[in-house]
Amino acid sequence: MRPRELARLATAVENGSPLPSDLPHGHGLIIGVTGPPGAGKSTLAGAIVNELRRRSKTVAVVAVDPTSKATGGAILGDRIRMQSHYEDRGVFIRSVATRGATGGLGRTSIGLAQLFRGAGFDFVIVETVGAGQDEIDIASSADATLVVLVPGMGDDVQAIKAGIMEIADIFVVNKADRLGADQMVNELEATLSLSPEHQRPPIFRTVATNGTGVAELVDVLAHLEPRLHVADTMKPDPGWLIDHIGIAVRSLDQSLPFYTDQMGMALLARETVDHEGVRVAMLSAGPSRIELLEPTTPDSTIARFLEKRGPGIHHIAMRVADLPAVVERLKTAGARLLGEPRQGAGGHLYVFVHPASSGGVLWEIIQDRGH
Ligand code: ZN
Repeated sequence: MRPRELARLATAVENGSPLPSDLPHGHGLIIGVTGPPGAGKSTLAGAIVNELRRRSKTVAVVAVDPTSKATGGAILGDRIRMQSHYEDRGVFIRSVATRGATGGLGRTSIGLAQLFRGAGFDFVIVETVGAGQDEIDIASSADATLVVLVPGMGDDVQAIKAGIMEIADIFVVNKADRLGADQMVNELEATLSLSPEHQRPPIFRTVATNGTGVAELVDVLAHLEPRLHVADTMKPDPGWLIDHIGIAVRSLDQSLPFYTDQMGMALLARETVDHEGVRVAMLSAGPSRIELLEPTTPDSTIARFLEKRGPGIHHIAMRVADLPAVVERLKTAGARLLGEPRQGAGGHLYVFVHPASSGGVLWEIIQDRGH
């Protein structure tokens, strides 16, 4: 995409237009850079851009200008341009004025970041100001968020920490050549030590003005995996999950090798449930399972199903957070339940819904074990 065309689209996004429908998702990483005023975010962003360009990566920057559209962006732009090639096609800088943005600064910044990623940039750096809902919104749509702090912030750290601990993927103590840098790092480490080790964000020390520590920081950024975003995927509902799919087979021994050997699935358990006249094999399928059902007596439900319909999907089991509420809704709607909820082998409650009520599928509804 030509810079002029990209600039035109960026203006449209700033004015509240949706992203072009044919815009690709892009492969680039969106990096949020946040922190209190005076932490040197713009200088650090500039240093990161220079280091990424040194590695032949293309970068777009969404700079948030708290005052006017003319100055802030120009300052950052000049800083980067001065240190790299003039009119570098591998760098694209867009400044968003806090007063000019329609539909919220966070939304505008996210829209621009997605536009630049779609345009093919390897990295999109989104710089934000202060802390607040915009920061949280941007952090949740970024692949990683850097929180930039400086030594000597004193009590400010405490105030800031409350809001940013959750959104920080990486901490950067900038101006690390200043007095109090060690204390700052120690304080951060002490706070982070409360959370599990694998969840602790790393802490980097940089002096953005001369580039110290920036290469080490970029090493980490260069190896980040894109995060799966809620906006990019279907939002998983924690209360609903396909627990298993029940498949009626004539013989477990003959059917199992397809699942275990050919598909490569793990066999979790085999058991015989005498009172139901069925032999069961459970296979692992991610968070769900496959349940193979073989009849042990000719008058069992599975035997009758096989006789009538032949081998195949017998039922689908849905795990729900609140079985009584679901049962209540089904009953109110007049759905046909096969009896009342009863206790399964594992002590969990379950009930079957007749295929006549569900468009031809026998549904097993199971109470989530966590509830
Ligand atoms: Zn089942």
